[in-house]
Amino acid sequence: MRNILILVCAIGIFTSCDAKKDTQMNINAMKIDTTTFNSIYSKYKESALQHRRFKHYDVDSLVQIHKQRDIIAVQKIGESFQKRAIYELSYGSGDKTVMLWSQMHGDEPTATMALFDLFNFLEGKGDGYDDIRKLLSSKLNIHFIPMLNPDGAELYTRRTAQSIDMNRDARAGQTVEGALLRARAAALKPQFGFNLHDQNIYYNVPGTKNPVSISLLAPAFNESRDINEVREGAMQMAVGMNNILQQYIPDAVAKYDDTYTQRGFGDNFQSWGASTVLIESGGMKGDPEKQQIRKLNFIIILNALIEIAEGSYQNYDKKDYEDIPFNASQLHDVVLRNVLVERDAIVYKTDIAIRRNERTVDRDFFVRGAIEDIGDLQESFGYDELDAEGLHVIQAKIQANPINDLSMLTEQAAFELLKKGIMGVAVKKNVEPQTLPLHNYPIHFYKQTVFYPTTTIDLGGTANFYLADKEGDLKYAIFNGYLIDLSKQPEVFKYKSRVY
Ligand SMILES: [Zn+2]
Repeated sequence: MRNILILVCAIGIFTSCDAKKDTQMNINAMKIDTTTFNSIYSKYKESALQHRRFKHYDVDSLVQIHKQRDIIAVQKIGESFQKRAIYELSYGSGDKTVMLWSQMHGDEPTATMALFDLFNFLEGKGDGYDDIRKLLSSKLNIHFIPMLNPDGAELYTRRTAQSIDMNRDARAGQTVEGALLRARAAALKPQFGFNLHDQNIYYNVPGTKNPVSISLLAPAFNESRDINEVREGAMQMAVGMNNILQQYIPDAVAKYDDTYTQRGFGDNFQSWGASTVLIESGGMKGDPEKQQIRKLNFIIILNALIEIAEGSYQNYDKKDYEDIPFNASQLHDVVLRNVLVERDAIVYKTDIAIRRNERTVDRDFFVRGAIEDIGDLQESFGYDELDAEGLHVIQAKIQANPINDLSMLTEQAAFELLKKGIMGVAVKKNVEPQTLPLHNYPIHFYKQTVFYPTTTIDLGGTANFYLADKEGDLKYAIFNGYLIDLSKQPEVFKYKSRVY
């Protein structure tokens, strides 16, 4: 329909098509390069948000600041099940209505940070980018709902306080927050939607060991995944995002599973007539708090808004969307290859895959490394990989003498113990179970429960052991799921652990 209208305008039958003609003439008027995006981002990044486990309090405080600035309209649209305020921030007075919502899963905060970066940018002035703001505010009517699930965010959990997955509640509308999102969609009738999530960090681009840093999806609106004008628009928006992403993270973009989900919000927005793109923030080596991925969110969202305002996203070919590969699921934190393992006096060679599972403690976390897979894992990849040919598994020891408390040992001294085969040290000082401290030492401390090193390589078992050569010299420690080369001084001690 849109294309027909453009054609009609082009041959000048209707004079009432001026707005459309104007859009067409301005297509690609504003191609922003990566250098410009980088400088915009560094100027407007919200410094109050630095890591993933911020809470509703932080968001609420920032919203109040934006309210005072009085450039973006702020409206409290409702409350979560546990009575935390949910806000909508609105910008622009154009006739294209855009909705963006983030963090309907409480433990998926990356895009929320990017939205606050974006608010700062929209409120800027006289920095050379006013033409972008003028374009956006004149063509678009943007509605942002950051942190839709503040109760989940408080505990850094996926589900709402009703223990319901909000993204499976678009049809039933029985979560307070899901009903709110549905109501806002019904009231605003957006033509464009951005469904902002985080996916797990273990997806890779198929055939490569590259983690998927961002995956995109133009969700289906029916079982047969038909492409109508609405969904095609979403595919074109995704192509624009992918084009920029390839300049930052070549071969680290994929598509999310496109199975139709009758209960899902993205699918429903698409069926309600909004061209909707799902953005999933994934993983990137060296970016555990996803600050680089946050920046990429900012850039692709800002660019997409510009392309929607210009109408230039319609220039993209949906074929380029179809060519983006789907997420593969072959990634782990560590893959050890060709390890010699002994069991019941029989020695065999195997690969071992390890993941570090995060456990949240307030605004911080620790990990527990676990063995995720064992066997022929040639098709699996690791953020860290080691060909352990000729190396065999050795059990870790614990130090005979307890210490009074952690401060008696420096991280460096702990590393020296680790190099000698000691992975556990008892702590004497009384500590309450709920105050067991988090630490970054390359060694386990234990107080409440005894730390047991890994004795056998078992599925789901802990990942605390050594790899030694034929002479029995320790070469690598697998400490709490971290691969540590014992011949190298670690640059930083960044091992997220907690006293047992
Ligand atoms: Zn999600």
